[in-house]
Amino acid sequence: MAIALCASCKSRVEEGAVRCVNCNADLALPGTFTQVLGWVIVAISTIPFAVSEVTTAERDWTPLVLGGLIAAFGFVMVLSGRARNKAATNPVIIEASPTTSQSQ
Ligand SMILES: [Zn+2]
Repeated sequence: MAIALCASCKSRVEEGAVRCVNCNADLALPGTFTQVLGWVIVAISTIPFAVSEVTTAERDWTPLVLGGLIAAFGFVMVLSGRARNKAATNPVIIEASPTTSQSQ
């Protein structure tokens, strides 16, 4: 089992914690919020897609195009969030458990 440590104060933190309980450091990666927002936008794009199922039969392509644009925008946000997380230094240090001490 891996142990998560705060990069600022080296105290142990819960894995997936957003804030360090010891030094109050922000543990969330900068792109995580962007990714979540991106997925929300992708989810929202299902609304015009659902509408388009009716309207494309009537040869109205506007909701289909709109849904595609919204989904594309959401995916771009998710990808940019991932890129930001890759570029950022992780505020949480993941260490292997001392019991299975293995040097990397
Ligand atoms: Zn800390």
